[in-house]
Amino acid sequence: MAPLFKKVLIANRGEIALRILQACRELGIPTVAVHSTADRESLHVVYADEDVCIGPPASNESYLDISRLIAAAEITGADAVHPGYGFLAENAHFAEVLAECNIKWIGPSPDVIRRMGDKSQARETARAAGVPVLPGSQEALKSPDEALAMARDVGFPVILKASAGGGGRGMRIVHAEENLESMYRTASEEALKAFGDGSVYLEKYLTAPRHIEFQVFGDSFGKVIHIGERECSVQRRHQKLLEESPSPALTPELRREMGAAAVRLAEYVNYENAGTIEFLLDEDGSFYFMEMNTRIQVEHPVTEMVSGLDLVRMQLEIAAGQPLTVESGLEPRGHSIECRINAEHPEKFTPSPGMLKTFHVPGGPGVRVDTHGYEDYVVPPYYDSLVGKLIVHAANRPEAIARMLRALEFFVVEGIHTTIPLHQKILRDPVFVSGNITTGFMTGFFQRQSEKPE
Ligand code: ADP
Repeated sequence: MAPLFKKVLIANRGEIALRILQACRELGIPTVAVHSTADRESLHVVYADEDVCIGPPASNESYLDISRLIAAAEITGADAVHPGYGFLAENAHFAEVLAECNIKWIGPSPDVIRRMGDKSQARETARAAGVPVLPGSQEALKSPDEALAMARDVGFPVILKASAGGGGRGMRIVHAEENLESMYRTASEEALKAFGDGSVYLEKYLTAPRHIEFQVFGDSFGKVIHIGERECSVQRRHQKLLEESPSPALTPELRREMGAAAVRLAEYVNYENAGTIEFLLDEDGSFYFMEMNTRIQVEHPVTEMVSGLDLVRMQLEIAAGQPLTVESGLEPRGHSIECRINAEHPEKFTPSPGMLKTFHVPGGPGVRVDTHGYEDYVVPPYYDSLVGKLIVHAANRPEAIARMLRALEFFVVEGIHTTIPLHQKILRDPVFVSGNITTGFMTGFFQRQSEKPE
């Protein structure tokens, strides 16, 4: 059988570029890696069939430069582009330009990206699809006065969020009226700086929710499925650190209910390819739509481990016009945990780029490492700090925790600081072990650590 595409250009770097390359190789699809001058020695470049240097280290002159990416695709004759996550993965304009050049975008249509990319508009779309959303503004707020009236209406605490938001930026939690105006202004300024769009909206703030997201997939024949959930409540500064599947909080009934809501929304927008619908689950079992990510996620491997599916392969198949062959409601098989290994100081959370003097990755049963790192590789200071993801799979949650602790112990990195020691402490924390985690987990965790006798 002929390969699905003539050649796929991977418009990304790091571990996700390598992950996409692995899927392409198994499907017999030739690959093109693009890289900045800082990433010449990266593994995705080493393993790709062809590679093109697209510019200097700064992302806006390389990985974010649409004209250079298009030029790279045209020079190499690539007929499809996989954007990975981050960079241009949720950039509707890039998807449109590719379509104009007759290059297939491996992702949803530009219209859907745009529609779900504006978070306040996505809330309205979810509401129209019959998916619960938290009480809050129906569109972007126009003034601090409007914000105040809305906040009084829904009741404090409230959270201000950037409509164009992502990565936890432009978000402010407001507990009292007197702080609203200044918080509104700082959130809007931060959003303008980060996303070039200062629009802000507001919703009720839940004090102890869980972040639970559903993996969805749609094909070009209108079929939409979900492939279960990921529990992502272990976060610092609203950024995920460790994810697992299944969520310890979901009963089969709640999984069915939330999964059906996710599918309803994806069907409503005629979703095609891989997407994630993020929910907050409140203590009383109510759940609310938070946002949709129209791309593959960092944490997709935990879903792969408990479903036995290859999500990146599925993305390629769907983009090539093949139908989905799986149904919603797969029972999760065993338990999977992912730890994000960042080049960071584990307590200060400051970046720690540099050379990996030792880089020994663990193996053995049920252990997977997604990384572009190797001994003597230099982690450049210009990009996000993820150097790898350690993923385990075991029969149940306690065994997955034990396996992760073993794998973390056997993961030896020297030369830079990493989040490995932090993960070891999290996995031994009694609250984490109990499974009773909310998005406030890390705050409580740091508190418990500081009270521990040395
Ligand atoms: P971003 O797109 O910047 O990642 P999200 O809207 O996905 O922002 O929210 C990130 C995190 O912020 C959530 O996982 C959750 O921990 C917290 N959060 C967001 N909205 C609320 C809310 N209404 N109540 C409580 N926590 C929230």
